[in-house]
Amino acid sequence: MTDIKSMTLQEMTEAMQEMGESAFRGRQVFTWLHKGARSFEEMSNLSKALRQKLAEAYAITAPTVARKQVSAQDGTIKYLWELGDGNCIETVLMQYHHGNTVCISSQVGCRMGCAFCASTVGGKVRDLLPSELLDQVLFTQLDSGLPISNIVLMGIGEPMDNLDNVLRFLELVNHPDGLNIGMRHISLSTCGVLPGIRRLGDLGLQLTLSVSLHAPDSETRSKIMPVNRAYDVEDLFRECHRYFEKTGRRISFEYAMIDGVNDSDQQADLIAKKVKGMPAHVNLIPLNDVRESHFKPSRRIAAFQKRLESHGVTATVRRSLGGDIDASCGQLRRRAMEERKGECV
Ligand code: SAH
Repeated sequence: MTDIKSMTLQEMTEAMQEMGESAFRGRQVFTWLHKGARSFEEMSNLSKALRQKLAEAYAITAPTVARKQVSAQDGTIKYLWELGDGNCIETVLMQYHHGNTVCISSQVGCRMGCAFCASTVGGKVRDLLPSELLDQVLFTQLDSGLPISNIVLMGIGEPMDNLDNVLRFLELVNHPDGLNIGMRHISLSTCGVLPGIRRLGDLGLQLTLSVSLHAPDSETRSKIMPVNRAYDVEDLFRECHRYFEKTGRRISFEYAMIDGVNDSDQQADLIAKKVKGMPAHVNLIPLNDVRESHFKPSRRIAAFQKRLESHGVTATVRRSLGGDIDASCGQLRRRAMEERKGECV
């Protein structure tokens, strides 16, 4: 059965015409799906016969809440969704003064292998479909009752490792007949898969690119991020400059501060040198403790920030939300995998 929610409005319209229906039925179905309809039965402005025909040919994805945790500290909500095939994914809703932001996963698991990250512990299981990316935004909004204005692709998985589906999702979520979330309200984070950055740059989308840098020198970066052995950080910086020239958009560099690994003044100096010539924003992240890793949070965050700023580089320290609910980086899915064993993969 075809996954109908992954189809664009145009594809849906054409499919309707092929079924001998009027073209406008395509928009009706698109609208229902993007409002969160879980079955064709609900689509009350379609004839019963058409609803039946659709149900025979198409499937509608609709995740169920496997777990939901609400932070008592700041209202952050973390969802563990169970997908049609029993796999589980995490989505986090954060309430900021500039609007509600949803952090979505791009894959079930991750194969990038970053040494400090919990998402990668069990490897990658599969890519998420465009519909499953959209569902995270759609059903988080419906379940929470909070209107979502911003999306960050910063959950589990590497978006550039699933780029076709991610691009299709962007088209869907951006659509005026759908959730209509503007590109400038969307961020995509990558560990540095260069062909993906190049492809995205060539498209010239107005979204914000975040690059998980975590070390400006090859030696350190290769130790903590295996992706650096395939795509070296020197080439990564070059690609980032190119991206800026193509899109005119400022890049955000994510930098988890790890004690004694990437927090020296020399490393701050090197970052400044490498981003010279483009507007960059460095987001310093206090390291989240991951049980599997021996890394410790850095105690030099303020000094590192100051050092970057002394070179004219904008640097901020990320405020941590949802600390009481395992809200970061694959922690909830991993815990659920341990506790539910087999119930949820
Ligand atoms: N694969 C993409 C998307 C994941 S985003 C990427 O790498 O960018 C998740 C962000 O959280 C990344 O910047 C990641 O490096 C960071 N992160 C992972 N584990 C962390 C930890 N233990 N502490 C702080 N940040 C972490």
